[in-house]
Amino acid sequence: MRAIEALAPGGPDVLRLVEVPDPEPGPGDVLVRVAAAGVNFIDTYRRSGLYPMPFPHVVGSEGSGVVVAVGPDVTDVAVGDRVAWSSAPGSYAELVVVAAQDTLPVPDDVDDATAAALPLQGMTAHYLVTSTFPVTPGQDVLVHAGAGGVGLLLTQLAVARGARVLTTVGTPEKEELSRAAGASDVIRYTELADLATDLPARVRELTGGAGVHTVFDGVGRSTFEASLASLRPRGGLALFGGASGPVPPVDPQRLNSGGSLYLTRPTLAHYTATREELLWRAGELFTAVAAGGLDVRVGAAYPLAEAADAHRALEGRATTGKVLLLP
Ligand code: NDP
Repeated sequence: MRAIEALAPGGPDVLRLVEVPDPEPGPGDVLVRVAAAGVNFIDTYRRSGLYPMPFPHVVGSEGSGVVVAVGPDVTDVAVGDRVAWSSAPGSYAELVVVAAQDTLPVPDDVDDATAAALPLQGMTAHYLVTSTFPVTPGQDVLVHAGAGGVGLLLTQLAVARGARVLTTVGTPEKEELSRAAGASDVIRYTELADLATDLPARVRELTGGAGVHTVFDGVGRSTFEASLASLRPRGGLALFGGASGPVPPVDPQRLNSGGSLYLTRPTLAHYTATREELLWRAGELFTAVAAGGLDVRVGAAYPLAEAADAHRALEGRATTGKVLLLP
């Protein structure tokens, strides 16, 4: 089969289209013909060496497709089933092995692209607003990178739960997308002279001086200071990623001086730890999509062979919504 391997830690140039033997499902696994693979920041962290990985490795962890074979001991997934997944190593490929317990059943009225776009970013948005800092009616929340994959979904889910959502974005086009997702106020943080002080000042202006209840920050290094300073007393900062780079060490005393603040660094695996929780989150998302209550934007779909271009675009802030690879 054809697959995209990262040959060694490095930039997008280390990605190569290669021919490798078809993988085989082991006990508890299914083999899936990939319809679309999701491109995520975690793929770039692994490719670059930020998250340790063996090299070479076939990149990717998310996608959708049809089950073409099942291994021993698989009882609840069958050949011909349409499935999606967020955590199967080697998903930038024509075929991938997925643990049956990690498969998400895809409803008939959800297409392959949407099914591949939703698992990782959708379940992340879902756990952030339902479990990390549950969003309740009347709250003010701040979402960074509001036109990104997680950002667009997070905004819609937080608005659906009754919050007023403020977002940050890098361009006028992204501002438009973020507003369409439900953001009441969109701040172009790239145009601020001093992000660390100007952004919190703007947030306080928009919240009558109070600050927001919650900040959802997947940008990290460049926004962290502004995020902390945008919170009201007892507010919570969910630092869920570092698109701009990792955040340096923080003195816990700052949470005191900021107003008894909460800081967490959550990750999806801990919020989908049981099959029951995984199916609950995915089920709510697929149901919302099928009912027209959640819009999933696929901003770009690249042929598999152009995976390096997809990584360049994602890391270069040139994407909106979801980026897919089509084998
Ligand atoms: P996005 O589609 O949001 O892309 C990242 C966006 O971040 C860019 O488009 C850009 O938007 C903004 N950004 C700001 N500064 C930079 C920079 N220096 N370099 C690159 N981008 C920058 O990506 P995802 O939705 O896939 O992921 C968002 C974050 O969520 C990532 O940090 C990712 O690691 C994290 N994540 C965490 C999970 C978890 O469970 N913890 C699971 C899934 C994702 P703009 O131009 O508007 O500034």
